Amino acid sequence: MPDVLVLVDHDGEHVNRTTYELLAAARRLGDPAAVVVGTPGTTARLAESLARHGATRTYAAESAEADGFLVTPAVGALELVAREAAPAAVLVSATTDGKEIAARLAARLDAGLLVDAVDLDSSGVVDQVVFGGAYTVRSQVTHGTPVITVRPGAFEPEEHPVTSVERTVSLPTVDPAASARVTARRAAPAGDRPALTEAGVVVSGGRGVGGADGFGVVEGLADALGGAVGASRAAVDAGYYPHQYQVGQTGKSVSPQLYIALGISGAIQHLAGMQTSRTIVAVNTDPEAPILALADYGVVGDLFAVAPQLTQEVAARRG
Ligand code: FAD
Repeated sequence: MPDVLVLVDHDGEHVNRTTYELLAAARRLGDPAAVVVGTPGTTARLAESLARHGATRTYAAESAEADGFLVTPAVGALELVAREAAPAAVLVSATTDGKEIAARLAARLDAGLLVDAVDLDSSGVVDQVVFGGAYTVRSQVTHGTPVITVRPGAFEPEEHPVTSVERTVSLPTVDPAASARVTARRAAPAGDRPALTEAGVVVSGGRGVGGADGFGVVEGLADALGGAVGASRAAVDAGYYPHQYQVGQTGKSVSPQLYIALGISGAIQHLAGMQTSRTIVAVNTDPEAPILALADYGVVGDLFAVAPQLTQEVAARRG
């Protein structure tokens, strides 16, 4: 079976859940091969969990400057391995960085690029959500090594223990003139909640929440369900919640098991980021709100009456 390259998302210590999703997706096409780009020693810390999730091969692309530049070290490493290994495909998470890495890689390899895949089969045919989520299309790359970005949450991580073979790759030197250098890092206040793109449950608030204080109701329900908090752009623009939590076309794409929309109308740009969620619940005072047409369960009512009851009920059932 040919290798299928998976770019590993990590924080230097742990592998992000989205990588396990990519490894599960890769197994449909061939033998998953993980590409770790990081500072020296990173691969050793991640190797066990990658092998447990089915990485038959691990490429260690390590250098002291690997985290000193945005995206270009990963592009260089993937290009090198792709030229050498002639993989069946390269899979990258459809995060902000992932999309840029995939686009640059496809350009360098002169290969076809498919973005925002939500499904793929063994022949490399991919389902993509396009035009702000209005259509799902099936596509296949016809030129070069397919480079595919996969929407976080679209695949379930699977444990699939294998013995992984490690190979060292010399990370190409980054050209500082053609790269963005990282001059400082500041950790985003994450709290105890799961990351938005990795959470199985996302509870989002919109303009209907009415203010920053109102988000306490959203957070309460998210915490009862062990989920992440999201927000519509209107809520973010109004300063109710920080921008990093925005869901939608110009925010994050999520595909959790459960998405609860509180006081969100359901504009197409919001739906683009969440409509592939498995189950959608919406609470809105307006029975004509577009989100209610999409929701699996819709409640016409005041979120400040409905959400606290839900929170109480969930807490009671969880004991
Ligand atoms: P509104 O549309 O104002 O809806 C608020 C809803 O709350 C209403 O349906 C109302 O009935 C309901 N409500 C009010 N009070 C209550 C209550 N007490 N209880 C229950 N319900 C209540 N938007 C995004 O979200 N993400 C994006 O990434 C994004 N990108 C965009 C990109 C572009 C280029 C453009 C042009 C727009 C983008 N937008 C995006 C904005 C989008 O068009 C909408 O303006 C936005 O999604 C609306 O947010 P909202 O649903 O919170 O607010």
